[in-house]
Amino acid sequence: MRKLQMVDLKSQYEKIKVEVNASIQEVLENNTYINGPLVHQFQADLEKYLGVKHVIPCANGTDALQIAMMGLDLKPGDEVITADFTFAATVEVIALLQLTPVLVDVDLNNMNISLDGIRKAITPKTKAIVPVHLFGRSANMDAIMEIAREHNLYVIEDNAQAIGADYTSKDGSKSKVGTIGHVGATSFFPSKNLGCYGDGGAIFTNDDELAHKLRGIVNHGMYERYHHDVVGVNSRLDSIQAGVLKAKLPLLDTYNKARQDAAMKYSTALGVNTNIWVPTICDTCDCHVFHQYVIRILNGKRDALLAHLQSKDIPCAIYYPIPLHSQKAYADTRYKEEDFPVTLQLCKEVIALPMHTELDDDQIKFITEAILEFV
Ligand SMILES: *Cc1c(COP(=O)(O)O)cnc(C)c1O
Repeated sequence: MRKLQMVDLKSQYEKIKVEVNASIQEVLENNTYINGPLVHQFQADLEKYLGVKHVIPCANGTDALQIAMMGLDLKPGDEVITADFTFAATVEVIALLQLTPVLVDVDLNNMNISLDGIRKAITPKTKAIVPVHLFGRSANMDAIMEIAREHNLYVIEDNAQAIGADYTSKDGSKSKVGTIGHVGATSFFPSKNLGCYGDGGAIFTNDDELAHKLRGIVNHGMYERYHHDVVGVNSRLDSIQAGVLKAKLPLLDTYNKARQDAAMKYSTALGVNTNIWVPTICDTCDCHVFHQYVIRILNGKRDALLAHLQSKDIPCAIYYPIPLHSQKAYADTRYKEEDFPVTLQLCKEVIALPMHTELDDDQIKFITEAILEFV
């Protein structure tokens, strides 16, 4: 059996070496390290793939979120609602821009932001909602867009974990996750579903005016060389990373399918045990691309299981062990523990198993047997 890893980028690279190396070589031969032709080609390819009017490449997913918020002209003190159970980057940029993060609980069935939580958190100061499509599963965008319309709020999708997922609306129309809100942000961190070999990110929008503004913000607020019209940042996707991404984008659907297949094999094996909650793919759409495969251990043995798996050299991880409202940086007297029952429960129950595009049946069998013999 091949060595187990949370993410196996080496085996993936072996299969795409020729295309990726050629892309990187092209950049080296052209000497176009910044803003080269491959950046523009990748941008156009991604716009086409996502069915979105504008992709604005940038340096990483955290920047993408920050720049999206800068583009919407949010002002210090404006309240931005997001989930208590997510990676810190989401809330970090809200705080960095001196906006007020308002954390709300998540739902137990999909681990995404609670609609009730959003409704209760809205005040006259609320300006935006940031749903995170956690672990690769789309949040309920129909309902979130409806709440946003009702209260005149922006929706900024944190799509770092769900690129390529399809969301089917109530009316039957399909859109790529990340292109439904006013603006979406993603990350090309190596382990993400579409990962480069360094840092990278992008912002998506169908709004021409916003796209123009964002293109200036990523480049020092310049729309014309040496004319700085707004305060910007330096956040670029470099040409080598764009080359890697251009080579990998045609494989994204195959990669997501491989993740879904692995997830279904895990869920079929583990779902028989009543002490284990397993995620499923919904029957009607393709809205879960399993950035992570996260189960819940319902009998209090999560930490013991973690130790058991580690003793067998099976990598696993806790995403996320501490709710954001309990983090020193984001503590706020407005939060009460009883407002976050689901997040608190998830932090004690979740465990993420190896998930990537190269998992084989022997590996999945070995992992699931080790779990079932223990739980
Ligand atoms: C990875 C991630 C980010 C940040 O992306 P970086 O490219 O690492 O800056 C933001 N939000 C979520 C939910 C993520 O998983």
